[in-house]
Amino acid sequence: MRIPLNRQSHIPLYRQIETFLRQSILSGSLPPDTRLPASRQMAQDLGINRITVENAYAELAADGLIASRVGSGTYVLPPYPLPYLTGDAHSVPWPLWQQEMHFRNESAKKTLPDEMLKAAGHPDPISLAEGIGDSQLFPVKDFRKAIQSVLLSGDVATLEYGESNGYGPLRSTIAHILASQGLSARPENVIITSGSQQALALVSHLLLKPGDAILVESPTYSGALDLFRSLDLKIAGIPVDEDGMRVEMLERLLQQHHPKLIYSIPNFHNPTGVCMSSQRRRRLIALADGYNIPILEDDFVGDLRYEGRTQPALKSLDPGGRVIYISTFSKMLMPGLRIGFLVAEGPVYDSLVAFKQTYDLATSNLIQRSLEAYVTVGRYQTHLRRSCQIYRKRRDALLLAIHRHLPANAHIVPPQGGLFAWLHLPAHLLADDLLPLACQEGVSFAPGRNFFPEPPIDASGLRLNFVAQTPERIDEGIRRLGKAIRRLSLQP
Ligand code: PMP
Repeated sequence: MRIPLNRQSHIPLYRQIETFLRQSILSGSLPPDTRLPASRQMAQDLGINRITVENAYAELAADGLIASRVGSGTYVLPPYPLPYLTGDAHSVPWPLWQQEMHFRNESAKKTLPDEMLKAAGHPDPISLAEGIGDSQLFPVKDFRKAIQSVLLSGDVATLEYGESNGYGPLRSTIAHILASQGLSARPENVIITSGSQQALALVSHLLLKPGDAILVESPTYSGALDLFRSLDLKIAGIPVDEDGMRVEMLERLLQQHHPKLIYSIPNFHNPTGVCMSSQRRRRLIALADGYNIPILEDDFVGDLRYEGRTQPALKSLDPGGRVIYISTFSKMLMPGLRIGFLVAEGPVYDSLVAFKQTYDLATSNLIQRSLEAYVTVGRYQTHLRRSCQIYRKRRDALLLAIHRHLPANAHIVPPQGGLFAWLHLPAHLLADDLLPLACQEGVSFAPGRNFFPEPPIDASGLRLNFVAQTPERIDEGIRRLGKAIRRLSLQP
């Protein structure tokens, strides 16, 4: 075997031999079961002392790369079979700490409808379960140009962490967009976050401790419930009807649970698609103020309105500092940006910025600057108008398809905007029972159970996404859903 040795180097010869052999084994040029020359032979070939070769072999043997077989010689060993690399997860037991661990987010792990849909193996699956808009509408080309322009600008600050509260010019743009929607916010009250999910996490981590109560709409966004559960919060639900949170029940719940925070999605609520009436919004603000409880307003798709009158944001009714507002570019532009933001006033703002710094130092500076290069208020409004036009047609397609393909006693509240509609199955049918049949027919939806913080659960409710598919596919998806409902109704 020829091993290039540098006798002038300060690196000892045994180390040079070891490094050469190690690289050859790891790169595969010395495959498993290759017999290495006997140390005496190798020493002769290289014109060195046998001990030097033995030292090199000993290092490799200690690392499990080679082993000597009695009477036969020294051989390259096969790579150590790490269970997670071979995919054979159960051949070697996990370390004890992993076996003993009770993971706090156990409840967050559930089978996702789209995984079930995939597993059902339909040749042309249609997902109505997703939580996002149509990826075909994402302004990819323009955004690519924006990223290029930022990278080519030569501004080294782009490559640094940037401010923890977010890139100043993007905070100004956000303030302008909010102003165009009737919410006045100053850039210095905006914090840019890694998606609005992080904004939710920052606010709840900062304001609540394990055991504290939080009041949420019931049903509500399942990702928020997972977060609140992971923080060991007590979650109390307020029912929702066609006008949003049933605020008339709020005072009793405030007295009963003494919550430290009220979390609300007043516009095009996830999962039901309903909007809170403006009367209820005012009552909610007044009650929260009276009981001295902060409100976390999640306005994830507030600007995707297809008809009807815009209601004032809770934040715009807030005389100052009571409401923390969060929103996102995920639904309007692209979820992959991971850009959300929050608006807060008062001492809580600085604490949230400090928390943001603790958690991830700052949101991606490159993406923030690219977004700022892409989003002018005018461009945002143009993109918004186009999306609304397209999504409105899809909403209409959904309503028509429900009328055509579903039994008359399947009930839906027509949404005036947003991404979702909530369907009530005929009373005796359960969404969980329907899902496997629907997946077999080639369509998925989000079953209602995941959205409820506590019983009573509306187990005959389910969420349909009507924006991610074309009108033709929505019609086909609902036709398949109708077939699955008929099959379920016939089951004994
Ligand atoms: N709020 C609601 C109501 C949502 O539905 C979602 C995501 N589906 C989020 C917040 C978080 O979204 P993101 O982190 O992408 O902004």
